[in-house]
Amino acid sequence: MISSIKSYLNNFSHLFFPHYCEGCGTDILLDDEMLCTKCSFELPETDFINAIDNPVEKIFYGRINIINAASAFYFTKDSVLQRLLIQLKYKNNKQAGIYLGKKLGQQLKESERFSDIDIIIPLPLNPKKEIIRGYNQAQIICEGIASVWNKPIINNVVIRTHFTETQTHQDRIHRWQNMQSVFAVTNSKVLQNKHILLIDDVITTGATLEACAATILKVPGTKLSIATLAYTI
Ligand SMILES: [Zn+2]
Repeated sequence: MISSIKSYLNNFSHLFFPHYCEGCGTDILLDDEMLCTKCSFELPETDFINAIDNPVEKIFYGRINIINAASAFYFTKDSVLQRLLIQLKYKNNKQAGIYLGKKLGQQLKESERFSDIDIIIPLPLNPKKEIIRGYNQAQIICEGIASVWNKPIINNVVIRTHFTETQTHQDRIHRWQNMQSVFAVTNSKVLQNKHILLIDDVITTGATLEACAATILKVPGTKLSIATLAYTI
């Protein structure tokens, strides 16, 4: 009965708020899915989750001591994935983040390499950007992950302390020193002796993730891994 009511309401809402596959435009979608089955299968999975020494881990070699790192998908321009990320970051479409977060969460859940994660933390967004956007996209991704993988999300313990000034005129050392002071831990007891998984949407140079990770790793007994939705080739 309940499922038939749900199905009725779902069809009803489709009538007035039809939603279309972000990939091919078909309107044959399950509940809150963003992509049809065909387009979902075509998302370019990296298979990094179970791969030791994968390209995401190599980004951090010699820079910071992480346990594991991975991205779920390859990021390419003019792709379905890019369209979903634009929806999440610039079109106020949190559902796109939940949808992709679930996909990353499913991969993490099935991987032994990530099985001893204690808590997940979204990479804090520049506060100015968060005010403009209304939310932190990494937080939305975490909510998607946690909906399929039973791990607690810890918010507001790792924070971004001030606006990052334009860094183009600075040399590498100064940029690094500047980034180092961007993040802070407000309550180290919450993080102590935990294996933390730091989450972001896309990894490119990894500089921001590295700075945040370095701040977290100053808390005694912490171990750190990193996961992102997408990896830029
Ligand atoms: Zn489709």
